[in-house]
Amino acid sequence: THAPASDLDIARAAPIRPIEDIAAAAGIPAEALELYGRYKAKIDIAALDSAAGTRLGKVVLVSAMSPTPAGEGKSTCTVGLADSLARAGQRVMIALREPSLGPILGMKGGATGGGYSQVLPMEDINLHFTGDFHAITSANNTLMALVDNHIYQGNALGIDPRRITVKRVLDVNDRALREVVIGLGGPTQGTPRQDGFDITVASEVMAVFCLATGLQDLKKRLAAITIGYTYDRKPVTVADLRVEGALTMLLKDAIKPNLVQSIAGTPALVHGGPFANIAHGCNSVIATQTARRLADVVVTEAGFGADLGAEKFMDIKARYADVAPDAVVVVATIRALKMHGGVAKEDLGKPDVAAVEAGVANLRRHVHNVEKFGITPVVAINKFTTDTDEELAWVLKWCAAEGISAAVADVWGEGGGGAGGDDLAAAVLAALDAPGSFRHLYSLELSVEEKIRTIVQEIYGADGVDFSVPALRRLAEIEANGWGGLPVCMAKTQYSFSDDATKLGAPKGFTIHVRDLIPKTGAGFIVALTGAVMTMPGLPKEPAALRMDVDDDGGAVGLF
Ligand code: ADP
Repeated sequence: THAPASDLDIARAAPIRPIEDIAAAAGIPAEALELYGRYKAKIDIAALDSAAGTRLGKVVLVSAMSPTPAGEGKSTCTVGLADSLARAGQRVMIALREPSLGPILGMKGGATGGGYSQVLPMEDINLHFTGDFHAITSANNTLMALVDNHIYQGNALGIDPRRITVKRVLDVNDRALREVVIGLGGPTQGTPRQDGFDITVASEVMAVFCLATGLQDLKKRLAAITIGYTYDRKPVTVADLRVEGALTMLLKDAIKPNLVQSIAGTPALVHGGPFANIAHGCNSVIATQTARRLADVVVTEAGFGADLGAEKFMDIKARYADVAPDAVVVVATIRALKMHGGVAKEDLGKPDVAAVEAGVANLRRHVHNVEKFGITPVVAINKFTTDTDEELAWVLKWCAAEGISAAVADVWGEGGGGAGGDDLAAAVLAALDAPGSFRHLYSLELSVEEKIRTIVQEIYGADGVDFSVPALRRLAEIEANGWGGLPVCMAKTQYSFSDDATKLGAPKGFTIHVRDLIPKTGAGFIVALTGAVMTMPGLPKEPAALRMDVDDDGGAVGLF
């Protein structure tokens, strides 16, 4: 027997059409297309304005049960569902995040879907793509050079070098840069201070980039970023440094969404990629909105499980832009259900209906959470070759008894261009037709403390929340600075509803511990940190980079 084809092998062998053809079929006029080679293009929104009509497509948000190391396949299902909806005759567009290089060379793998449900050119999208992350990295680091230069040149604003909250960034997993000292070497090298690096996708510039509704809004949000505090504890913003214009200039091309295609030829906008812990974890608002103008149905994704990604999509992204979902798909796998039911990773391949039954409490809490936003959830069971008919049938029966629409999707094996996603597409179309009444989970008028309490009790199922002493002090500062009206972005482990990654399933009787709060005044949310949050990941013992190479034709090898 052969080893199964890798995602890269499948992507490479797939037919790919010139991007002009994909654009033309999607109703994008040639004058709005800025080509990056033959298979990638940026879309000039201004040139689209005259051509796009008044269409405003419905939004399908793909989320998942609590992820496990077994892998759930949200991106795979996003692409596969879109292809299946197109197969069913819908005018569809995909909106996905851009992958970050750090995790790709580390361990996560690509972020362009998998099997026969991928976006192409997989290799380019996973590597440097159209340079957006370079632009975001440059904008962020230019800002920080300007901050340190301001201090060096006399520090007219009185910035306290010990209270600078923005760090320099790189799109690399590099733990050695987490804590550094800069400005060593004498008076002409700047003012020494303790600093550190974050990964680009954890930066506020990335979050701002993804929440901006246009170029002017991008500038306004960049201007509002708090870079730190003065000696008398007053916030200092990018506007105080008068550099929002330069930063916007560095991002003016990156902010245009990138058009690519799925293996089945469905148009896809892949744009922006904020972390799902320290930020909101969804592709850019500009891409989602552009997709809505071009298609009747937009399929998009939010990072981690529905307690994190979907909650943030609905309480942050859908507050700043008109992108509220009309349907939410919760991806589940038999493997993840078993893991939440107590089975070890090595034993996931063994048939075990009882373990599936034991783990279904995790899925139950997620789907009923979606209902709290006034949206009818659809469960997508992402089929793996190790799943048995009994296990799949049990989950479908459970969903039916629970009153939840569900379908088994084999979009990884068959590709959405095939019949593998037909049932899921039908279930999603039915959900889109069902009358919905979207609502946010909490009102912005609540205090930050009350907002956190609402999320923690309603979505996580916690008894309550415990604030550390520094967090309490920060809460008071936030209200005093007039930031209390912002939504909250929870930074919590994705593996559990609780802040303890080892509590799988649907834990009860726990408290969430808020360690600290970080105001992100440009992005427009308050990050609540629970537990340890990684803003600069490290590399594992056997990094994926060890398996990578290029072949004689210059193609990538080992890119998953
Ligand atoms: P997520 O978006 O939830 O992180 P991805 O869609 O990126 O997950 O998938 C993660 C990995 O799992 C990919 O390498 C993909 O090929 C693989 N995968 C996804 N679905 C399946 C499946 N049904 N069977 C086998 N492998 C799968």
